[in-house]
Amino acid sequence: MLRRVEFGEADLVLSLFTETLGRVSALARGARKSRKRFAGSLEPFFTIRVRLDEPRSGELFVLREAVLVRPRTGLLGDLRKLEAAGRALAWTRQAAPVRTPEPEAWAILERLLDRLAAEPAERPAEVELAEAGLLLLDAFGWALELERCVRCGKPCPEDRAASADATRGGLVCRACGGGRIRIPANARLRLARAASGEAGVLTSDDAAIALALVERVLVAHAGIEAT
Ligand SMILES: [Zn+2]
Repeated sequence: MLRRVEFGEADLVLSLFTETLGRVSALARGARKSRKRFAGSLEPFFTIRVRLDEPRSGELFVLREAVLVRPRTGLLGDLRKLEAAGRALAWTRQAAPVRTPEPEAWAILERLLDRLAAEPAERPAEVELAEAGLLLLDAFGWALELERCVRCGKPCPEDRAASADATRGGLVCRACGGGRIRIPANARLRLARAASGEAGVLTSDDAAIALALVERVLVAHAGIEAT
């Protein structure tokens, strides 16, 4: 679940990112009157299995049944993990079009939440978030070009720092005007590996660059607000 908002006296409106339908909203009737009604499963970061009734009109499904699949309580006691998970959910809420299946993005988000909830954590939350962010861009069709200049196509030499312009989709060489985000040569190679799906390659410094790129791309494409 991506988010829950109180509705009326007793209900909740849920924003769900589902494997088969993509992002949908659903009304959970009576969810605030009785926690038993949906067995305490309606929390952000939880993965639930749901049965939904189609909307009669509009876009609001009705939640019939919810079963908790992965609670991820390991997230709850750690602010950095919570913040990273919250950013990923906010990205998804704004980048995923309504009712469009995005199974790849769904799997990336599931994996990220599992890794963030794992104890002990293998790597810092920001690094996990940055790697997932690069993959999410690809899943949504906004992959960054990190090998060559997006304007003239000239490959970036392996030993040279590069600069990127996220709104143009990747590296921009100096002759083409350059970009605002500077990427050291080694970091660029690691970012490219992470973007192609290799896990565990980014350092904390790389993660900061990656997060800046990811959020700028999302601002450009999905109109999300930078944090
Ligand atoms: Zn160029």
